[in-house]
Amino acid sequence: MAVEPLDVVIIGAGLSGIGAACHLKKHCPNKRFAILEGRDSLGGTWDLFRYPGIRSDSDMYTLGYNFKPWTKAKGIADGEDIRTYVTEAAQEAGIDSKIRYGHKVVAADWNSETAQWQLTVEEKGETKTKTKTKTKTIMCRFLLCGTGYYNYEEGYRPQFVGEDNFTGDIIHPQKWPENYDYSGKKVVVIGSGATAVTLAPAMTDKAEHVTMLQRSPTYVMNLPQDDPVVNGLRKILPETWVYRIIRTRNIGISWLIYKYCRAFPNASRKLILKLTKKQLPEGYDMKHFSPSYAPWDERLCVVPDGDLFTAITDGKASVETDHIDCFTEKGIKLKSGKELGADIIVTATGLNIQLFGNMSLTLDGEPLDISEKMYYRGVMFEGVPNLGMVFGYTNASWTLKADLILEHICRLLNYMEDSGHKQCVPVNVNGAVHEPFVDMQSGYIQRAEGKIPHQGSKKPWKLYQNYVMDMISLRFGKVNDPSLEFSSPKNRAKTETQVEAREEVVG
Ligand SMILES: Cc1cc2nc3c(=O)[nH]c(=O)nc-3n(C[C@H](O)[C@H](O)[C@H](O)COP(=O)(O)OP(=O)(O)OC[C@H]3O[C@@H](n4cnc5c(N)ncnc54)[C@H](O)[C@@H]3O)c2cc1C
Repeated sequence: MAVEPLDVVIIGAGLSGIGAACHLKKHCPNKRFAILEGRDSLGGTWDLFRYPGIRSDSDMYTLGYNFKPWTKAKGIADGEDIRTYVTEAAQEAGIDSKIRYGHKVVAADWNSETAQWQLTVEEKGETKTKTKTKTKTIMCRFLLCGTGYYNYEEGYRPQFVGEDNFTGDIIHPQKWPENYDYSGKKVVVIGSGATAVTLAPAMTDKAEHVTMLQRSPTYVMNLPQDDPVVNGLRKILPETWVYRIIRTRNIGISWLIYKYCRAFPNASRKLILKLTKKQLPEGYDMKHFSPSYAPWDERLCVVPDGDLFTAITDGKASVETDHIDCFTEKGIKLKSGKELGADIIVTATGLNIQLFGNMSLTLDGEPLDISEKMYYRGVMFEGVPNLGMVFGYTNASWTLKADLILEHICRLLNYMEDSGHKQCVPVNVNGAVHEPFVDMQSGYIQRAEGKIPHQGSKKPWKLYQNYVMDMISLRFGKVNDPSLEFSSPKNRAKTETQVEAREEVVG
């Protein structure tokens, strides 16, 4: 039986993929689509990470979707609440039935004769005794990747001298053992990023003591959990209004803070350090919270209600700024000669950057290296037809950008349908020059060099990391701009019939 190719395949059922499906359902109700998810559950990041205290460091008024208000009391949410929020979004939009779990896309090949993507998918199947994988093919006209930006299999994990000598447990936060008991244990958390500053205070609930061991400090800011303005507005206004007001306010505040930090690095540094000092015990050595770089050269960390500072003040947690010499039987020896006793070492050393969920991408069978391409409006890629990818902000909440990208893709799909075009491809017609993806020095951005696409020196290839500019470009800008080439394959009638006859699942 001949089966129509799907109009759109979304890969990934995380915040981005579920958001994509909700936008499609609303703005392109006639499109036939499916969500292919490699894992057995939705939520992506917010389902994978299970370490103690796992939470967002953005407020949910901006990390939430623009179409679904965040109604919980706390603005900073834990992993479970975010999972529930994403699940509800899928159910409310009625797109949960479109998710095909256990479907890992391993390859995508663009066929320019038929203007379709051919996806090679490994489907996990259960038998009574074992998990069996079968390979099948799925065709679609537009491929939309909500595959996130890191490797799900392994986190970034440097090797330390003498690891084998250590008699305790070494755990990476990406692979937290279920129901792991750390009661009464001495814990060392290696790292200074968002995960380390979350874990250190969270583990003081049961651990004897937690030491956060960092090579270099990070800026850490206190973010109050309860927002009196939200609570006040909720008494008099409907939830959707409150969400809109607070979302707009928070977008404005975080943008102003970012701009201020970039324009006045010395003044903003002084201010952050002054606020930090106030929350630490008298005489505390500020070297642990005084980075050598300016605010927003790397991402800032936030701690809800200053929980890290409280744990330090209460003597339950401490910070060491030093280099590791080696692991010993009973802990870690530092370059300064000091030894840190530990029963458990947590390596909060980061993520391994990986785009497109490690699938192989080809155009008519020719390998496609996305790291050589420019990102078109932060939506598609130079020279690559009918491929969209969701990549959120690095200086604000991911979903703010994701929503804009997805609205834009819906407008693009509708335009293509109205104008009868089967394919569109971004072309560098205005001589934009390749530039690095983002102007940040964070370790994971540095490690991503050679794996992520470039931005261009001018519109529409420039990534502004600015919500207002992106809103103007993506929500209100023309979709048929001169840098997008629209067409349909010439021999479409013939090739489509051929493909439709064979494009049902093979294998
Ligand atoms: C610990 C942590 C905390 C964070 N906190 C914040 C924060 O506070 N604010 C913020 O803005 N951002 C934060 N981020 C970034 C966060 O990843 C994004 O906010 C957002 O969750 C990304 O959603 P996503 O759906 O694009 O990707 P992911 O959440 O990574 O989901 C990708 C999905 O795609 C699936 N997938 C991948 N490849 C394939 C394939 N080949 N075939 C099939 N399925 C595939 C995966 O299984 C997964 O379900 C955080 C990240 C981490 C790791």
